[in-house]
Amino acid sequence: MPMAVIHKTRLRYRKYEDFPKVNALPAAIICSSTPTATTIRQVRSLHMKLKEKDANHAVKDKLDRTKGDRREFRFVRVNDRLFKVPEGFFLQMSSTMQSAVGFSSNGGLTPEKPIFLVHQSEDQFKQILTAYNAFPSIDPHTLTLDHLLTISELSLHYGLKELNSWFLPAFRDLIHSAHSPLRTMPNFLFVRMMRLSLQLKDPQLIGVIQAAWANRFHIGELSAVWALIFADTHCLRDLLGHACYGYLLREHSKLETGENINERGLLSPRQVLYIKSGHISLRTYWRVVGRRPPDFECGPECVLHSHCDRVWRARWAVVLAQMPSGLSEVDPLNRLGFMLDRLKEDTIVEACVSPSCRLSALKALARQRDRLSHQLHHHFDI
Ligand SMILES: [Zn+2]
Repeated sequence: MPMAVIHKTRLRYRKYEDFPKVNALPAAIICSSTPTATTIRQVRSLHMKLKEKDANHAVKDKLDRTKGDRREFRFVRVNDRLFKVPEGFFLQMSSTMQSAVGFSSNGGLTPEKPIFLVHQSEDQFKQILTAYNAFPSIDPHTLTLDHLLTISELSLHYGLKELNSWFLPAFRDLIHSAHSPLRTMPNFLFVRMMRLSLQLKDPQLIGVIQAAWANRFHIGELSAVWALIFADTHCLRDLLGHACYGYLLREHSKLETGENINERGLLSPRQVLYIKSGHISLRTYWRVVGRRPPDFECGPECVLHSHCDRVWRARWAVVLAQMPSGLSEVDPLNRLGFMLDRLKEDTIVEACVSPSCRLSALKALARQRDRLSHQLHHHFDI
């Protein structure tokens, strides 16, 4: 008998298999026309056993519905490779996804008529299937970062509830661990992690990954163009502002000489306009706002604040004159950072400005830099 027919037969009659067959009943119940005390006890006992058995099956059915039936299999083809996949893998999916992948009561019952899954490579499907079969005993420490991300991406794609619930804590632990990959990983992994975090709609994860990404291109370890395109596509205004800033710092000398800042053609015309707007706006910001020390409040124990103010402004001018030539006018973030670091260590400020006024002045400078960092998108007309 062909396998499809056997399977249909088994499905059709499965619900009756749990009841005792006629020849399994005690002979006395079948033959006796007048029930005796013994037969009544036997009937009651049998009813109790049947009830108990029904209850056990009800619990098991419930478990199967929630965890997915792992006893039945469907055949799946991914490119040239055939996989035997527990039916529960599909039962966890939404009905929309089941329809999209071609899962039905008779889909994939034979190797000759498998379910075709085209969303991933063979290796990637093997990874998600191995994780599905191992759940809940998956040890994230045995997985590479690529495997962890692949399992997460595919479980989100297919809507596999069990693996989704396992993934988020494992992902958070990894991000916050002492060996967080955020410090060393390349741009394409930032893109994968950001996509996952956006799908999960987790603002805390999105914030941490964005900040780490921006830091990596601000210190020149990564090109900002990946983040720029990703952030523009996903309307992430803050990340886009920082990515434009990173891109501008690498290309601003070309803008001064009228050269092409988009030689590789990676940016759209609108994105090129962002960079050009930022170039003008940030330079103006530095010339108008950044060169002057921010106002600061007088400290409570200060008795001669005009003196504090005069010393602070004088030292500001001295430090400003020491600005490294490598820090461009279109880089006010790093210029303000330089001023802050130097004035913090300035021994004259420490000796001649009252302690609370010195603290107040340094805080005002730090606030100015933070405000600029949070409002970068305005400079790029985003
Ligand atoms: Zn003072």
